[in-house]
Amino acid sequence: MIRVRFAPSPTGNLHIGGARTALFNWMHARAKGGKFILRIEDTDLVRSKKEYLDEILHSLKWLGMDWDELYHQGERFRIYRDYAQALLSKGLAYQEGQAVIFKVQPEKIKISDLIHGDIEFDTSLIKDQVLIKSDSSPTYNFACVVDDASMNITHIIRGDDHISNTPKQIILYQALGFPLPEFAHIPLIMGAEGRLSKRTGATAISEYRALGYLPEALVNYLLLLGWSPGENQEIVEIREAIKKFDITAANKTASQFNLEKLNWVNAQYIKKLAPEKLLELVKPLLLEKKYIADNFDSNYLLSVVKLFQERITTLADFADYSDFFFKQTLEIAPDARKRLEARDYSREFRLLIERVDGLESFDHLSVETAFRALVSELKIKAAELVHPVRAALTGKTIGPGLFELMEVLGKEKIRQRLSAFIKGGV
Ligand code: GLU
Repeated sequence: MIRVRFAPSPTGNLHIGGARTALFNWMHARAKGGKFILRIEDTDLVRSKKEYLDEILHSLKWLGMDWDELYHQGERFRIYRDYAQALLSKGLAYQEGQAVIFKVQPEKIKISDLIHGDIEFDTSLIKDQVLIKSDSSPTYNFACVVDDASMNITHIIRGDDHISNTPKQIILYQALGFPLPEFAHIPLIMGAEGRLSKRTGATAISEYRALGYLPEALVNYLLLLGWSPGENQEIVEIREAIKKFDITAANKTASQFNLEKLNWVNAQYIKKLAPEKLLELVKPLLLEKKYIADNFDSNYLLSVVKLFQERITTLADFADYSDFFFKQTLEIAPDARKRLEARDYSREFRLLIERVDGLESFDHLSVETAFRALVSELKIKAAELVHPVRAALTGKTIGPGLFELMEVLGKEKIRQRLSAFIKGGV
């Protein structure tokens, strides 16, 4: 039975790198019918915080990674002490005050990493290893080996940054008489300037959630950071990915975090949603901004959702772009104001109100027909009127098609908003 684990330390939030490690473990378990174990490495009593633990657990759940077993190292100090005692009794470790230290013997160690292939280590370069610190807490390498072995972990899938820990752990497996697991070290994720920065992926998973990324999209993007479903496929649903996933096919070189790519993936997932589902997802954001109340008109909201579905990157975009459908008083952006003040449009706006009011069937086609008839009578180009009308109705210079948005906005709001820019009233 394949058993893998994700072993976060609750000394910070879950970030892109940790989430990717968790996902590759989870995928491996789910692809092979194995178990995914979550182990909280909270041995650092000072830096471990409950709020980080909550964020990690919540983010993993949000991303859809369910675990089969959960352990906290903080509850297992006794077990580590017993194993340290066994090493002391065998003469393989010694004490320095309260601390227990492992005697490292020189030897050559070779592993066959599932991603990198053969890696050789020379333990004569490793100094004696602390197992239990003088405050009685275990070190990472010791607790990790005791747990990986006693939890029957078959595959250690973790970041490249742990390669140097691997020989230190292998000598402990040997000393304790535990069989060795397989190792798969996944190459790191780099930001544009080498390291991951705030802009390039150092954002907590909970922040992506707050920014309106969809969990399915984030998971899809995380998968692409170090693995590919093949044939340049970029959008891959998790069920399909699980069928194809193979940890040995993970990239051997570092991958690059790219926010534009994540945004593109998110937009693809938003486009694929049923509009009714997207409505449900934006509803809390709109309620929070007080754009809608609990008794909102769901037909109206659905029409607005449909107008923006193809144009937004995140759910937060929806709230930003669609505000003019909900606000009573319109905010006019400076660039839109410039359009409106290019000249006096009172005459054109007055005529447009008349035509729109006179329409019997009111939809984007009839509005467009009336609009085009008007500009042709006025002998002006359509664009000459489209821009100021859009600015007056939406307060913006870009957005959905003008006639489509006029249909959803309705006669009443069109009249009100255009009138506000007519000198001397309607
Ligand atoms: N707690 C360690 C970390 O957060 C786990 C490393 C491992 O997977 O062995 O990096």
